[in-house]
Amino acid sequence: MATEIRIGRILGIPVYLHLTFLIILPLFVYLFSAPQTQVRIFGMPMTFTDLDADLWVKYAFGTAATLIFFLTIFTHELAHSYVARSYGVKIRSITLMIFGGVSSMEDLPRNPGQEWRMAFAGPLSSLAIGVTSLLTMYAIDPIISESMIGEGIVILLGLMGIYNLLLAGFNMIPAFPMDGGRVLRAYLASKMPYMEATKKAARVGRYFAIGMGIFGIFTFNFFLILIAMFVYIGASEEEQAVTVTESLHGVPVKQLMIGAVQVAHPDMTVQQLHELMLATGHMGFPVVDSALLGIVTHAESVKVPRESLGIVRVRDIMTRNVVSVDPDMDSSKALRAMYDSKVGMLVVLDHGALVGIVTHKDFIRAVNSALAQRHVMRWGEQFPPQPPPSSPV
Ligand SMILES: [Zn+2]
Repeated sequence: MATEIRIGRILGIPVYLHLTFLIILPLFVYLFSAPQTQVRIFGMPMTFTDLDADLWVKYAFGTAATLIFFLTIFTHELAHSYVARSYGVKIRSITLMIFGGVSSMEDLPRNPGQEWRMAFAGPLSSLAIGVTSLLTMYAIDPIISESMIGEGIVILLGLMGIYNLLLAGFNMIPAFPMDGGRVLRAYLASKMPYMEATKKAARVGRYFAIGMGIFGIFTFNFFLILIAMFVYIGASEEEQAVTVTESLHGVPVKQLMIGAVQVAHPDMTVQQLHELMLATGHMGFPVVDSALLGIVTHAESVKVPRESLGIVRVRDIMTRNVVSVDPDMDSSKALRAMYDSKVGMLVVLDHGALVGIVTHKDFIRAVNSALAQRHVMRWGEQFPPQPPPSSPV
């Protein structure tokens, strides 16, 4: 099932709406429009509850506020993407989802000077929007707040101002996956190796998360506890992702691929395929007749019902989407290609000739042996390895 809807393209970047976004949209409209109790921050109303107007007018303002708010979140994402692109990073997409926006981009810069600018661009744009909204509000408040519509606009500007300042502040928390965590890592990476900088920044992120969580428990703030968990997991994932890419970096695919490839024939039954798996210990095979037709892995073969094992053929279940890599390609890039195309196996082609295959298992083995050589803790059985995450909000 598709969890994202494509809504358009801005600056050549495809923009998606995640389903979770569609779920929270009505919730935000309600929270901004006319909830029972007025919410105030620094004395400013954050809802249209007290506006002297019909309920439908309050909801119209609430809907406008919701749409504009997400537009400002989108601008924050666009700022990251814009700076990243100016450094030559390819932006695949921007997705709006429950936690805000996510920019999906190719490998992030390993250049501290570029990374901190890219991370800082988002909060800076939120800060600019926040300050501009508040200044505009103070400027026009005495002129238009006599009318009901004018008062609504003043509330709208105050709300945008405050929430964008909060967005800027929240994202500058020095914890992954917040932008502040990336700024901190970039700062540390200018003084020490990238992996060490990531470990240190991830540790700071976890301390922050624990502090936030404890504070959330004592103040019964469920939302804060949720964010604390999000930050804790994010910090650990970032650390793991960097560990994986650093371990695979500089290792050519040919070093971890399985050569002397066993192949499956498209007319083979699934029963025969299982026997081949048992005999060879491999969980996936290229499907070859006179040419390479596809790949078949254990994931597809286990879906065949037991009574049909002798009837269904490999050609019926194989994946025709073959992702091939060059034997000299960097393994970290190959892992990325595997994730992006959501296949269980890569085929290694040398000038068109099949020379090997690479599966998840081979990546894990390579990472573990790299870690063992460095006498660090085993990264172990956490499966599957993760590529570097995209940067959220
Ligand atoms: Zn951001």
